[in-house]
Amino acid sequence: MLLPVIAIRNGDGPTVLFTGGNHGDEYEGPIALRKLANELKAEDIQGQVIIVPYLNYPAVLAGTRLSPVDGLNMNRSFPGNPEGSMTQEIADFVFRELVMRSDVVLDFHSGGNSMIFEPCTVLHQLEDTEQLKKTLLAAKNFGAPISLVLRELDSKGMLDTAVENTGKIFLSTELGGGGFVSPRTLKIAENGIRNLLRHFEILPPNEESVPETRFMQTPDFGGYLIAQQEGLNETLLELGDSVSEGQVIGRIHSLTDIEAPALEIKSQIDGVLVTRAGRAHVKIWDTIAVIANDLDVADFEGNTTFYY
Ligand SMILES: [Zn+2]
Repeated sequence: MLLPVIAIRNGDGPTVLFTGGNHGDEYEGPIALRKLANELKAEDIQGQVIIVPYLNYPAVLAGTRLSPVDGLNMNRSFPGNPEGSMTQEIADFVFRELVMRSDVVLDFHSGGNSMIFEPCTVLHQLEDTEQLKKTLLAAKNFGAPISLVLRELDSKGMLDTAVENTGKIFLSTELGGGGFVSPRTLKIAENGIRNLLRHFEILPPNEESVPETRFMQTPDFGGYLIAQQEGLNETLLELGDSVSEGQVIGRIHSLTDIEAPALEIKSQIDGVLVTRAGRAHVKIWDTIAVIANDLDVADFEGNTTFYY
């Protein structure tokens, strides 16, 4: 199997690596990157753009999150192993040959079949302040409606971690999900790519301003709402809706006890609904909603102006 990789280069400038299809059932990245590969002309750019539309190609071909060849999660396989199974070999090639020659990496994700997201960029609370500043600035200039700043509890094997450990700039996204794309999420992906290329001066500036992004976080307490029973999840809010503490955001209806009252799901914090389950039929312990609240990114630096 040949992994499609497109590299477009002209003159001097930074190198940006775009990857889609890290999980094979997430589609904004693969579609936007295929289009980019066909539309971007070498004479338009200063620097290099490397495009991998289908990172876990066997998973993309199968339409599954994980590889059908070895059952592995690409985003738990970095930095890879040249002697390993197919997913580990792809990770190794991408890390050594593509990440290492890049300055910036953007890995496109969406919610997959199980979760749906309000479109956002995702970045991590890095200890290196300079690296964090550059990453926040890149997220701001991508222009997704929300930028989620996360502390990753289980980051081993992620492309994110592998890139961040090199000191390079890394961003990922969560754009929609549910196994489909929408005009809105695709537009955010396609505009974000070009906004980012302008930010790094690979594409020339234009007159349009980048849409405002809202920096948010998902608190450990109250950020994640888990199904306490199996059943049918009645969703009462749209993604992006504001919620207040104590507000009923959904109800789970039992499948086995027809007379049982529905179990109310209440938000434990004030915030915004950024993620919900992609299916109405939820199992016990499934994450059924994620609530984010605003994050003052100036806190990371101790002043209010650094990221402008
Ligand atoms: Zn993903």
